[in-house]
Parts: sequence; structure tokens; C-alpha cells
Amino acid sequence: MTFTDLGLAEPILRALTEERYTEPTPIQAAAVPVVLTGRDLIGIAQTGTGKTAAFALPILNRLAASEGRPAPKSCRVLVLSPTRELSAQILEAFRTYGRHLRRSATLAIGGVPMGKQIRALAGGVDILVATPGRLMDLLKNRAVTLDWVEVLVLDEADRMLDMGFINDIRKIVARLPKERQTLFFSATMPPEIASLAGEMLRNPARVSVTPPASTVEKVEQRAIHVGRAGKPGLLAELLGETGVERAIVFTRTKHGADRVVRGLEDAGIAADAIHGNKSQGQRERALAGFRSGKVRTLVATDIAARGIDVDGISHVINYDLPNIPESYVHRIGRTARAGATGVAISFCSPDEVPFLRAIERAIRQQIPATAATGSVAPAAGAPIPTDAERPERQGRRRRRGGGGEGRQGQGEPRQSRQSHDRQADGRNGQDRPAQGRPGKRRPASGKQGQNRPAPARHHSGDDIGAVGFLGKTRRQQAATAV
Ligand code: AMP
Repeated sequence: MTFTDLGLAEPILRALTEERYTEPTPIQAAAVPVVLTGRDLIGIAQTGTGKTAAFALPILNRLAASEGRPAPKSCRVLVLSPTRELSAQILEAFRTYGRHLRRSATLAIGGVPMGKQIRALAGGVDILVATPGRLMDLLKNRAVTLDWVEVLVLDEADRMLDMGFINDIRKIVARLPKERQTLFFSATMPPEIASLAGEMLRNPARVSVTPPASTVEKVEQRAIHVGRAGKPGLLAELLGETGVERAIVFTRTKHGADRVVRGLEDAGIAADAIHGNKSQGQRERALAGFRSGKVRTLVATDIAARGIDVDGISHVINYDLPNIPESYVHRIGRTARAGATGVAISFCSPDEVPFLRAIERAIRQQIPATAATGSVAPAAGAPIPTDAERPERQGRRRRRGGGGEGRQGQGEPRQSRQSHDRQADGRNGQDRPAQGRPGKRRPASGKQGQNRPAPARHHSGDDIGAVGFLGKTRRQQAATAV
């Protein structure tokens, strides 16, 4: 199957050719035709499967085919994603695939001042990619209305749950027109997520690709039993080995990530950290350094790393093992992208053995394990529990303790819900929005939006950072506008 077979508009096909995409990935082949019909969709897929294009391409096709323009302070497409990084990447994907269309897109994420986002939304945008916390703030400030949303995308719904965003999502959904298309993506489908999908979607088609175990098969995995005290030395040793071209090191907590970076720096190894306590600028700089190869080691927490799309990661190192098996799958999926192979090495201290067993059960594979040797070997006589351990206990705790930066980050002091939301989404401490719907509702004007207000935008080339047209310059875009 080719992208042309999917029936996408020529300017989109051209962008895909320029990106050297030769054929749709399985999720794209399954989802694009369904989304093009206007039907709701549940997509079970992880990052790395091409799921962003699976929703971005048909959405762009819809926008290309309609003359409708966004009303002031409104958007026609709303994409909700749990993290700033993922949101930025989704926006980038829309920009890439939509570069020959004259449509606008902007980002509303925490960690940066809101003023620019308010200004960007003033004239209305075609596509708004937002994290839930910042969107709630913008709604509260009446900087945006959701009355005109034609398509809602909820990406990484299971992470939204882990990060405590589900109530925000429900509030946001309550403000959307009932007549809309909803595309719901999640890597896993725990009961809470299935019930949220049931509330939000109407007669959805369901597509599911790459069950966790099959992604895992591409990655060469091993575990090393090592005492906690031996981990820093073992890490420095491994990173010094040949073949480790670009490594992402996962820790469970933000403080843990900072400690690892300090330890590596002391050992003369350049490394950067990316987690929820870093400013947006710091995260972007760290990612840019990692992408360019300036820094070969990035230390990350699960949530910060979610959705990071960097090619050529040769090694994933689990400095701490996650207590959620799905997180393990997400982590190791950072390597072995696009058909490449990769190596995932998990450090396992005696207290983490139950996590290792739970992971092995989830991926239906045994991970070859060795004991650390030399100076980093576990203390003599340190117990290495076996299968007799009962990881189910940990499993029961999972809902409460998932992720290092979510609502109740494991291993870190529990915080109030608001403070965690702010941390995860960079919120600035403002109160939550009032529950009621803002202003008077105008009726939705049909799915294609033919009766929408005339354009109220006056973008110059200068405002690309705020509301970017997807195309390059107005003149170029006008030449290829649909
Ligand atoms: P995603 O799962 O959306 O995070 O996408 C993972 C990576 O696959 C991104 O780097 C995309 O640019 C790339 N990608 C998506 N679709 C295709 C395709 N059909 N052919 C080649 N690469 C793709």
C-alpha cells in the first residue's frame, strides 16, 4: 500500500515524499482510511509506530478539503497530549506534513509564559496542540473557546491517567461540541482508560498495532544484578564501552536523574538530564544537544522521555527499573526505531527483582541476567530474590505510584494534586478554571465547517513561533494553497 492509495491530497503526498516516507506504517494503513471517513477511532499504539502521522495526515486532509477558517480565539482541531515534549513533537509533525498547506497551528504548553500563547490564539488557529493543564488555564482566562472544535485527538491517554490529568480531560471534553470527530490513542487500555473512551467516543473503529511484546523482540535485552551502591560505577563503565553511540539512561525520579548526571560528570562523562523540574528551555537545550550528538548521554525520567523521538539511540539503560511493566516497554522502544536494532540494559538491585519478574511476565520473555563483577558487584550475600517473589503486590500499587513525575511520583514525597500537575505541565500556580461553560455557545456549524466565520487572522512571517502557518512563507503557501 502507498500513501497515494490512502487518498491523501497532493500537497500532503508531496510533503511525505520529501520526508522520504515510502509506505504507510501498519497503524497509518489501518487508521487513515477510517479517520478520513469522519468516524471516531480508538488506536492502540505506542510511540515509534507512526501513530502521530496516523492522525495528523487525515486531519490535514480534512483541513485541506474545507474552506472553513477558525473563529477568533478558537481552534478547529484540538490535540491533547500529556507532556510538553510530546506536544512539541506533534506540532512539528503537523508542520512537516502540512508544510504545503496554508493552515495554522500553535502550541499551548506549560513552562513558558502564557501571554504569547494568548496572542497566538487571538485570531484563531486551525490546529491547537496542548497539554491539559495549560489548556485549562487558557480556558479560565477566556483566551480560547472550544465551541468550534471539529476534531479532538487525545494522545497517550494512559499517560494522562498516570499523570493525574483525567479530571482535566473530562472538563475539557465537557466544553467541546457533541458533534465532533474524536481520535483516541493509548499504548495500553487499562479499565479506567476504556471507560473514558466509552464516554468520549461514538461508535469508534478500533485499530491496534504492535502489541508490547513484538516491539520488545527487536531490542537485545539484558539485566545486570548490581547493588544500589554499584550502579554509578557500572553506568560509567558501560558508557565507556565501544558501541555505545547514543544512550538514554532512565531513572525513576527527577532527583535521581540529577544525581546520575552529577556522578557521570565527576567521572568525566558529559551528560544532560531531562525531567519535569527543568525549564522548557533547559529541556529543549538538552534534547538539542542529544540530537546533535554533542552530548551522547541523556538521563531522563519516564514521563519526560515519553514521546522523545531521537534517531540512533544505540542503548537504553534502565538505571532504575520501572515498577510499571508498560514503562519498560516504552523505555526500550526509544532504541531499535525504524527497523534498527538496539540494546537495553537494566540495572537490577535486590529490591528491584520483583519489578524485573513483573516485566518478564508482561513481555513474555526472560531477560538474560548476569551479576555485576569487580568493584561494582553486589555486596557479598546480597539476596537476589527469584520468581518466588510476588510482584503482583507491586502491580497493585502501580496505579498510585506510576511514573516519576506524575501525580504521585514513585520514590518521591507525595505532593498535592495541583502541585504535581503544575510540575508535570509547568503550571504557574493559578487557580483551576471555573466549572461552567464560558459565554454563550454558538452552534457547531457542521463537520466540515463551511459556515464558519471569515478569516480573522493576520499573520506575518514574524509570528511563526507563536502561530505558525504550516507552510513556509505566505507567498509560497498561497501558491500551493488548497
Ligand atoms: P511516532 O510513532 O508518531 O512517534 O513516529 C515515529 C517515527 O516514525 C517518527 O520519527 C516519524 O517521523 C517516523 N515515521 C512515521 N511514519 C513513517 C512512515 N510511514 N515512514 C517512515 N517513517 C515514518
